[in-house]
Amino acid sequence: MLAKNNSSKPHSLYATLSALPKIDLHRHLEGSLRLATLAEIAHQHGVDIETYSIENLRPLVQVLDDEAPNFQTFLAKFTILRKFYTSREAILRIAYEVVADAAHDNVKYLELRFNPVAQASSQGFEFDDVTDWVIEAIRKAQKDFNIQVRLIVQIGRHEPQFARQLAELAVSRRHKGIVGLDLAGDEEHYSAGKFIDIMRWAKKQGMYITTHAGECKNCSADSIREAIEVIETDRIGHGVRAMGDIHVLDLLRKKKIPLEMCPTSNIQTAAIDGLFQHPILAFHRLGIPVTINTDDPSISNITLTDDYLVTVRGIGASTTVLKKMILNAAKAAFLPPAERQKLVAYFTRALKKYNFKE
Ligand SMILES: [Zn+2]
Repeated sequence: MLAKNNSSKPHSLYATLSALPKIDLHRHLEGSLRLATLAEIAHQHGVDIETYSIENLRPLVQVLDDEAPNFQTFLAKFTILRKFYTSREAILRIAYEVVADAAHDNVKYLELRFNPVAQASSQGFEFDDVTDWVIEAIRKAQKDFNIQVRLIVQIGRHEPQFARQLAELAVSRRHKGIVGLDLAGDEEHYSAGKFIDIMRWAKKQGMYITTHAGECKNCSADSIREAIEVIETDRIGHGVRAMGDIHVLDLLRKKKIPLEMCPTSNIQTAAIDGLFQHPILAFHRLGIPVTINTDDPSISNITLTDDYLVTVRGIGASTTVLKKMILNAAKAAFLPPAERQKLVAYFTRALKKYNFKE
């Protein structure tokens, strides 16, 4: 059973993990929407779904406890969520609340990825407009809450026709908080090969690159190798499938490629059959820089505190190792070197203050 917001928790450990300063490098804006907000938007704008009550909305956009883990049904939730970006105000509100929720969980540094195509599609908005609305909301939320946020523009593997435009849009806003590109989505059916030229171009323009690879059960370790050697990715999203391939493990270790791992999501997408199979600890012992992230807090019905608890109680990482994983995240931040050093220094100091009662 995975830790959930409303489930019973080992109290003292949970309280300490909750208070701990955190970093989330892998969180999708589109997977972080509050259910109550979705219900209100649906009422106000007559969103085309059968029911507007929170409890009836829940199974459409959230993985339920008794739902069979499956990668495609997990991705299908995003298709429904595309209907809720009904106006500028709705997008401003959604993006602001995503940052507020992260700050409430004591996330101090957040790299929030978003997909302009997802947010523009239902109303035919311009990609540039929805991007500027997200930037505006994030800027305000950073002033209101004690959190630093950077943005990553997501390119869907199944939507290569938009890739060039999205990369140019991200590069043109690199002084407004956009720091990177993310290749995401259906890895089983769409290889990263189509995106090589665009990703290399963006990197030359100063963008960092992260790539969802080796995320699902039927995905291959070779897709991780391709992301590293061909796309020249700076980080890998998930990378679970590396566990079956000694050469890819060696590549990750030698090149020190950080993995953005998301334990709860990895269970819900059926990447692994249970937490006992989760490779994060084995990867850590091999010297691969692993980090813990939420992926989609609303779809998974979790916070980052929950995923930290899963890593300690469900996977068996010690709290000393957990702190190392948080520092790994600081070292892997998509920031200029001087700012990254400041972040590492802040977390090194801040984490020393926390003693755990396990
Ligand atoms: Zn993801």
